[in-house]
Amino acid sequence: MDGSASSERPQPLVIVGAGLAGLSAAVRLCDAGQPIVLVEATGGGGGRSRSFRHPATGLELDNGQHLMMGCYRETLAFLRAIGNDDAVSFQRNLEVDMVRPGGARVRLRCPALPAPLHLAAGLASMRGVGLLHKAAALRAGVMLRHEAARPDDNETCDAWLRRMGQTQGIRSAFWDPLIWAVLNDDPLIASAAMLVAVLERAFLGTRDDSRLGVPRVPLSRLYVDDALEHLRQRGAELRMGQPMRAIEADADGVRAVVLRSGERIETRTVISTVPPQPLLDALPAAARRHPVFADVARLTVSPIINLWLVLDRAPFVDVPFLGLIGSPLHWLFDRSRIEGHDHGQVLLNCTISGARGLVDDRPSTLLELCRSELRRYFPERPVQVRAHKIIKERKATITHAAGTYQLRPATRSPLPGLLLGGDWVRTGLPATIESACQSGHDAAAAVLEDARRQTAFGL
Ligand SMILES: Cc1cc2nc3c(=O)[nH]c(=O)nc-3n(C[C@H](O)[C@H](O)[C@H](O)COP(=O)(O)OP(=O)(O)OC[C@H]3O[C@@H](n4cnc5c(N)ncnc54)[C@H](O)[C@@H]3O)c2cc1C
Repeated sequence: MDGSASSERPQPLVIVGAGLAGLSAAVRLCDAGQPIVLVEATGGGGGRSRSFRHPATGLELDNGQHLMMGCYRETLAFLRAIGNDDAVSFQRNLEVDMVRPGGARVRLRCPALPAPLHLAAGLASMRGVGLLHKAAALRAGVMLRHEAARPDDNETCDAWLRRMGQTQGIRSAFWDPLIWAVLNDDPLIASAAMLVAVLERAFLGTRDDSRLGVPRVPLSRLYVDDALEHLRQRGAELRMGQPMRAIEADADGVRAVVLRSGERIETRTVISTVPPQPLLDALPAAARRHPVFADVARLTVSPIINLWLVLDRAPFVDVPFLGLIGSPLHWLFDRSRIEGHDHGQVLLNCTISGARGLVDDRPSTLLELCRSELRRYFPERPVQVRAHKIIKERKATITHAAGTYQLRPATRSPLPGLLLGGDWVRTGLPATIESACQSGHDAAAAVLEDARRQTAFGL
């Protein structure tokens, strides 16, 4: 990669960050026989997809409810590699229930037809939405196939939906919940090109691609613990709880990763999978001035709030999760039902995406909001909150505002020897689990390609 002499002692490849991007890169490279050192700031890893024991209730809670889709191919490949692909419950076919204030349901059920006919049939038979609105959605589906209908990254979802003639009725029951969920941002500012990237993967491939998947076990058990064990068993060096302070470079590129302890790990190849700010903090000053990294510095973040409630009973009983139409709470997940627990109480997760307007509210205000929304949407089934835990992830994802995709860097950075991973790099996808795993696999593929090239040239 950098032309270093073959007489030098082989140096390990250093992967920084043990979130999904770092873990997927590490597992892929370890399985290919590459010696690696994995450097992670926290003791447990997992980054933004992790779980923890809540002292007050003894429950194992996720930092936030995470949904997958059938089109998460890189994530599923990672889960297969660590033996956990059966720990996610996938729907047989796409089914989504939404509820209006007062309890009326909107129901999307996609039948077992080839894609995208399954979605067309599902939309056409959608319960709780008028004909005019369904026709608008079907029209958008047909128009999506035409080049002129495709948005570029500067068009917002709002502008694009108006251009596609989408009615308020189908927006509130279908488009807006989808946009908040997959882009973690307001349709008024989110990029339509990012939305279309998801629509293509989810709805224009196979029918299975659009199915939703919910983890049956807490996130660290699903993604992290077994990945770390997999790496340990294959001889990887794990440096947990040891933050990177700096990446050192010379005229040829990367030379070393320096830990906060002062220890220097010499290497010519680093895969950094940390979020934008810790990466910028670690870069040599000259590299930070490069236009690619100057763009990275312009990326901003969008928060997610998760409220975990222990209830005396479930506010709904027929489905594992439910979207709320017209509420600041976007989704409710009955975790007790999903995990198959019945302890005489119910663990409910309430998710608020793109929560800029609420993230500074006091926990008591958020709890009251949640209580009153449950009363508003489920007046027939009042519930008692017995315990709660509120998690504000202020930097849940980068903002997918229109015009920001071009700020995201490619896998190969301008600093020789530095490869970039993380859900926020240029994967063609919004910052999601799948983007993180794809970025990790892309970085691993680049390392393996370089190794093959060096071998071919006898270096
Ligand atoms: C509440 C919430 C809900 C979400 N829901 C969904 C969902 O439903 N579906 C979905 O697809 N995605 C969802 N996401 C997004 C998903 O969690 C992320 O896309 C994914 O976890 C990002 O993984 P990553 O490896 O790119 O980054 P991270 O998880 O941020 O990992 C980076 C790692 O680097 C470490 N690190 C940072 N600085 C240093 C340093 N100096 N030295 C060493 N290590 C360092 C961190 O500790 C961390 O472990 C959600 C995110 C949140 C927060």
